[in-house]
Amino acid sequence: MPLGPPNLADDLVRTLLGSDARLHRPLTMTVLALLIMATSIMVMEWVAAAGLARPAPVHGWALATGAWMVGCFALIRSGHTRQWRDTAFTIVQIGAALTCNAAAYVIAGEARGIVPPLLSLAMVFCVFGLSVRQIKGLLVYSLGLYAVAGAVTQWGTPDAPAPALATVYMIVVVVVLVASTVLALRIRAMRQQLKTQRRELAEAVHHIRGLATRDELTGLPNRRYMQEAMRLACLNAQRSERPLLLAQLDLDDFKRVNDTHGHAVGDAVLQAFCATAQGCIRATDVLARWGGEEFLLMLVGTTPGQGTRLLERLREAVAAMALALEGGGSLRITVSIGAAMLRADEPCEDLLKRSDDALYRAKHQGRNCVVLAHDTPLTDSPAPEAQRG
Ligand code: GH3
Ligand code: MG
Ligand code: MG
Repeated sequence: MPLGPPNLADDLVRTLLGSDARLHRPLTMTVLALLIMATSIMVMEWVAAAGLARPAPVHGWALATGAWMVGCFALIRSGHTRQWRDTAFTIVQIGAALTCNAAAYVIAGEARGIVPPLLSLAMVFCVFGLSVRQIKGLLVYSLGLYAVAGAVTQWGTPDAPAPALATVYMIVVVVVLVASTVLALRIRAMRQQLKTQRRELAEAVHHIRGLATRDELTGLPNRRYMQEAMRLACLNAQRSERPLLLAQLDLDDFKRVNDTHGHAVGDAVLQAFCATAQGCIRATDVLARWGGEEFLLMLVGTTPGQGTRLLERLREAVAAMALALEGGGSLRITVSIGAAMLRADEPCEDLLKRSDDALYRAKHQGRNCVVLAHDTPLTDSPAPEAQRG
């Protein structure tokens, strides 16, 4: 419930524009065009009332123009144009505005001099979603329209201006139309450039975020990412009382792989290890490169029994890997794993320390094995309370 006094302006905007956010921009633009048209209608009616133009054509023009604008607004507001490529059918609206302007020139009598400069207002709307071809097409259309309007005015109306004045009006028409088209094209190009820059910036941010959180060699989340992910996962697990198992994995005698086969082979081994390890875990588990040939695996919602089985499977899968060497023969590696279950209220750092101690013991027990922290049960019983002891 809003606490402040009701905001009438907000209510009016909500009623006018509706709840569909996609229609807000086309509706706002149409309301703006409607206001410009309403002002033009008032000016034309005033001109007719002052005896400068014949009232009947002005009334007819005002009625048709007003009905068209209200109709456009109602069509967009009803949502019928939502599926159209251009929900505001901009080109049709601008074409109609230019036609209304040319018609006003014919019927505005002695006041017709005020009409041509208003062409620029219609052309301004071209920057919203029209292509270069469409904008140029509208220029040609309006020039042709005014050629007809000029001819009708000169030879078809009783209040035609003197030829010299009519020529001046036509010059103004050409200058206003060409200048406003050039400006519209320029603004459109700037908007396009801005859009491209915004997209490139978003892509760059995405890329940089990837670089900051991913390990380049393996594509796994890096240490920085894992530290934060672990902190959040520990908090969540403790709040929801879900089990969380953290495992540290360290490749055995990896220095010898590098020393014997070279660093490039060592890199390939690290990549192969990651592929194998990832094949053993679920999409919800997080495997990260902690540094060098050390990895962290976080299993959320996994009981000690399930976790131990998964780690055993992973260890076996790594031991079964045979990496073909370029000069013939193959290379085998093993991994040592230390794991611990998160205790209630245990800080994340302590869990990490306990899994590290377990890994240390795994190395001392001869490598290629899984060792659990002292208080981590091997099976899913006894009850979860016992895991926290
Ligand atoms: P242990 O079984 O006790 O873990 O022995 P280890 O040889 O695996 O451990 P040690 O810490 O002595 O050596 C780790 C080696 O991992 C040393 C380092 O050159 C290598 N290493 C670390 N990062 C990379 C890497 O990105 N690529 C390659 N090729 N080697 C790496
Ligand atoms: Mg090692
Ligand atoms: Mg190591």
